[in-house]
Amino acid sequence: MRFFLLAALFTLVFFSSCEETVFLMVEKTPWSYENPDWASAGYLDCNGKYQSPIDIETVNVIAADHLPDLNFVHENRQYTLSHEDQNIQISSSTLSGSLNYGGTRYDFQRLHFHHNSEHRINGRFSPAEMHLEYKNAAGVQITVCRMLELGEEESPLLSTLFDQLPTLPNTQRQLESSVNLIELLEGQGSYYTYEGAQAEPPCSAGVRYILLKEPLLVREATLRKFSSLFPNNRRPLQSLNNRFILEKN
Ligand SMILES: [Zn+2]
Repeated sequence: MRFFLLAALFTLVFFSSCEETVFLMVEKTPWSYENPDWASAGYLDCNGKYQSPIDIETVNVIAADHLPDLNFVHENRQYTLSHEDQNIQISSSTLSGSLNYGGTRYDFQRLHFHHNSEHRINGRFSPAEMHLEYKNAAGVQITVCRMLELGEEESPLLSTLFDQLPTLPNTQRQLESSVNLIELLEGQGSYYTYEGAQAEPPCSAGVRYILLKEPLLVREATLRKFSSLFPNNRRPLQSLNNRFILEKN
């Protein structure tokens, strides 16, 4: 008995010293990337016609320079990193930023990563892909995507985030200091765009994808801190089904 009390006390001290706290997941039908037939698990929208991610063949992309500019506004925030079953979600309890797109404001919801990339460009997957999700007042979602490529240099904010990932499922922690997500988006104007669906259950349709053309660099050792936790958290490619992919240069 004394042992268990000591063990419990140790666990409590351990978690609080790492500033990692346990949180409870909302009960829902389990799904995994190992078995991506999510419709069979009851998520019927995952068999919808216009799904994500897709393969982007740049010879078939239509140039459309009338497409809206990307106007990102982000504030400094001390984000929370939540280790869920299939990913680590980075979010804030208060509004921390938005994307103004075509005269409509889309508020920032959460940021996460996929290893390897979910989208494929000209037959090639990137080592990882970053997703920032935004929603407007009507609940319409835009997912802004940016590939991560290996390099000697890297975004300091990426290393800050990957250094502080909570390693145990169902735990979360606060970043040690405030950061501004604009660092991950600055100077980005050219992109590919198409209409798809959430790339995880429930696979809700009507999501606009904006894939920034310029990748973000990350050191291999930094990326390994994420990929060791999530060796495979990407959904397989989905059929384009006569959709158009547009690009703004
Ligand atoms: Zn994603």
